[in-house]
Amino acid sequence: MRKKLWMICMALLGSLLFGVATGEAAEVQPTQHIGLHDRLLPITDIRIIDGDVKVPLNEFITYMDAKMDVSKGKLRIQKRGSEIVYQLKSQRTSKAGVEASGSPILDIDGNLFISVTYFAEATGFKIDAMPTVNTLRIYRDDYEHMGSIAYEKHIQALVVKPQVPKATVYLTFDDGPNRYTRANVSTLKKYQVQGTFFFLGKHMKKNEDIVRTVADAGHYIGTHSMTHDVKKVYESPETFIEEMNEGTQLIQQITGNEAKLLRVPYGSKPHVTPAMKRQLNVNGYKMWDWHVDSNDWRYTDQQVGEIVKNVRNGVQQSYKSGNRDIIILLHDQGPTTKALPAIIEWLQKEGYTLKTYEPEHHVIRNFLYDTTL
Ligand SMILES: [Zn+2]
Repeated sequence: MRKKLWMICMALLGSLLFGVATGEAAEVQPTQHIGLHDRLLPITDIRIIDGDVKVPLNEFITYMDAKMDVSKGKLRIQKRGSEIVYQLKSQRTSKAGVEASGSPILDIDGNLFISVTYFAEATGFKIDAMPTVNTLRIYRDDYEHMGSIAYEKHIQALVVKPQVPKATVYLTFDDGPNRYTRANVSTLKKYQVQGTFFFLGKHMKKNEDIVRTVADAGHYIGTHSMTHDVKKVYESPETFIEEMNEGTQLIQQITGNEAKLLRVPYGSKPHVTPAMKRQLNVNGYKMWDWHVDSNDWRYTDQQVGEIVKNVRNGVQQSYKSGNRDIIILLHDQGPTTKALPAIIEWLQKEGYTLKTYEPEHHVIRNFLYDTTL
């Protein structure tokens, strides 16, 4: 009877907790853990049969420190002066000569399972169903243990599922290296995250020390052309690839790192022609545009909030559209250095993982929709 009542309570609680909150059909959360006093038993094979929680007999008996022996066709379990008897042939269970209704001990494919509730009641344990933590806890008052609220918190901390990363976000910084690059790098360091930098050759020549600092901090560096001059860069496939090769060689010279990922000035569309694209392929380059444009260059130091807002809206939209790798366009410039802490804090609060570009996990993102880049 008490077992039935417990089942009804579970169902009611379940519908209250889960049905109302989600607006979906009520569903009882199954028991996933067995608690003993302040512990959580490492039993993983938990079966719910007709609403009753059953666990492998041998394993459970060991954890319960109960005695068990088999003789004359009977399996006897002894604990605290009580004895449960299971008739191997008839598969009936009884305690003190009183036969149990149902099957508290059950043969499932040759393995015996026992009802936790039946065992607890038969041997003087109290039972606490804790649907919020999917736990069935048994305990005795003469044995010191936590109160149920404390225990619930304890279990929550123990079984809390590791948060699945929502999506990976790549913060990318164009047009450096300059003094704002240093500010951005120290902000990234403060939050222990990494970005990706697309440097201009003309600036690298004057700021080799900054290039080294960025590389030493583990951020990926790619080229963003030598001149950023739209006429020069896109004049012909030859000028285009020359700008990219020169920038890449500079990075290699200064840092010793290979730099096969690049970002072309002003984005690839409509500037990069099929002939230029072939040059990128021939030279083994990958090319990134972006998913989210912060439009940071449009704003002054007094409008930093707009940059943060653009990133927030852009990332939310990108995520909603199904992207799990999101590339954000930023620049090494004043207002961006001021916006960066708020951007990172928001991304982290929302559960995004921030990473630098990893060649071995290349993400394809270009406005040409070219899968070879
Ligand atoms: Zn640029």
